[in-house]
Amino acid sequence: KGNGRDLVSYFSPDDSQQRTMAALLMHSALQDALQRDEFFLEYQPICDTQSSRMVALEALIRWRRADGSIVPPDQFIPMAEQSRLIIQIGRWVIARVCQDLSALRAAGMPPPQVHINMAAPEFLDSELPAQLLAITAAAGIAPRQICLELTEGVIMQRVEQALPIMHELTRLGFDISLDDFGMGYSSLSRLKALPIASLKIDRLFLRGVPADRNDVAIVRSIIELGRNMKLRVIAEGVEQDAHLGFLRQCGCSLVQGYLPGRPMRLAQLMAAHGVGAPG
Ligand code: C2E
Ligand code: CA
Ligand code: CA
Ligand code: CA
Repeated sequence: KGNGRDLVSYFSPDDSQQRTMAALLMHSALQDALQRDEFFLEYQPICDTQSSRMVALEALIRWRRADGSIVPPDQFIPMAEQSRLIIQIGRWVIARVCQDLSALRAAGMPPPQVHINMAAPEFLDSELPAQLLAITAAAGIAPRQICLELTEGVIMQRVEQALPIMHELTRLGFDISLDDFGMGYSSLSRLKALPIASLKIDRLFLRGVPADRNDVAIVRSIIELGRNMKLRVIAEGVEQDAHLGFLRQCGCSLVQGYLPGRPMRLAQLMAAHGVGAPG
């Protein structure tokens, strides 16, 4: 019975028309946003667990609307993923990261590696390796300065298509990191075959650390797995001293979260490292 009602409401013309309308409006708003240069990036530090030194950054996109409000990525990336727009947005992110890396270098700061998030359509595009190489080369950025973050979902949905692209990217010198690890369904045997440099433990698991025995066991075993597979392990969502203490004790190599550092604009990052802003 419940199902019947859901089906009726699901197919009711009003709803689907409204959804189509909302999707069209969002699509054109995102197209305008690209043209008007309304997207910007924040960078969150990824730090060495023992020394707390910053070793890399993750680029996170935001959208500043004409009215000044800031839209977080969860509210527009999924929509953009339903069309080719995500590819344009993703290429914009890559180009901006390269530009910012050049600015850091020009300001005298040794440029850290930058992690870039990739949605399925941008990653599974066979043009990606060549385009990535062209964009980085044009900016004078070496491939090892870039690490692409892929979720298990993106890789495993079409693993036959994803694997050759991953191998091509690593052959060119780019790094790949497995994002949100533990949330997906990839088997460990599959994981072994992937050309990846690091694993990121999803921040959901860290929430229960150190009180929840299951979360503690999961985090410990992911760290152990990473060590055995010679992968760097990055714990996400590190918010408390207790998280950091636990991760140090477990030998987790890298940490990311509000405690080591919040996402920030390039100028803030430069100020924090005592180098001048661009321009
Ligand atoms: P993600 O890749 O898992 O990124 C980490 C998210 O956790 C970021 O949210 C970050 O701000 C947040 N975060 C970091 N430290 C903490 C912490 O200690 N506690 C809590 N509660 N949260 C923390 P954000 O920036 O809102 O991004 C959300 C998601 O949007 C990202 O999740 C990623 O999947 C996607 N995204 C962001 N930028 C891009 C992009 O340029 N391209 C694509 N395709 N996706 C992006
Ligand atoms: Ca990520
Ligand atoms: Ca993540
Ligand atoms: Ca995520």
